[in-house]
Amino acid sequence: MRKPLIAGNWKMFKTLDEAGAYAGDLARRISDVDSTEILVCPPFVYLQTLVQAFEGSPVKIGSQNVFWEDSGAFTGEISAPMLRSIGASYAIIGHSERRQFFGETDETVNKRLLAALRGGLTPIVCVGETLEQREAGKTFAVIEAQVKRGLSGIDTDRASSLVVAYEPVWAIGTGKTATPEIAQESHSFIRGLLKDLFGDETAGLVRILYGGSVKGDNIDSLMARADIDGALVGGASLDAASFERIIRFKGQ
Ligand code: PEP
Repeated sequence: MRKPLIAGNWKMFKTLDEAGAYAGDLARRISDVDSTEILVCPPFVYLQTLVQAFEGSPVKIGSQNVFWEDSGAFTGEISAPMLRSIGASYAIIGHSERRQFFGETDETVNKRLLAALRGGLTPIVCVGETLEQREAGKTFAVIEAQVKRGLSGIDTDRASSLVVAYEPVWAIGTGKTATPEIAQESHSFIRGLLKDLFGDETAGLVRILYGGSVKGDNIDSLMARADIDGALVGGASLDAASFERIIRFKGQ
């Protein structure tokens, strides 16, 4: 019912030459994949090049952020209509690194989300607790606040296209993956929140990705869980061979 989505977040890595070589390599490796949706989110400067490089392949291209106004005097920002016009189809919103280093809040996440939907981009909204919050027993309260504030004001008929990424901050780039049990518990909690917000049918259509040190050796057990519909992959998406292994998770 929910097509798995494996998304790569390159963060701020690769030169133009490296990006081009990767695209050729990945496109060759995964040309036969159609049961899983594949997404690559490079830095803004390579978006258009990669849209062209992956043309005719199953790989879609997304941005790592999007601004909430469509146009105007906002030096340095990039809007949803601009991203659509160069062929991007997804936008990551509220990644924990943006929350941690660039002042992102649930309110700005919500503004970006509404702009992405308005502009025809599929938003991937990131939520997740820090280690301190988990140890203080606040995981569910943190996730609930991020989901309810981040997703407020969305029409139910648009909500089914949303993607939510559960990314416990303590697992991102640390090599510590949440166990499948921990991840499933949070995913199921998020699915419950989506039911409260949008009803059972729509909540059943929303894909919830897990993110946090996903690799070839842990993807299979994560994907075996009922509410884990894919992965948002940082470090392990930077190498085409290791990303291919994740895309070809076992049990599909
Ligand atoms: C991410 O960037 O969203 C991420 C989960 O990174 P990593 O896979 O490197 O932990």
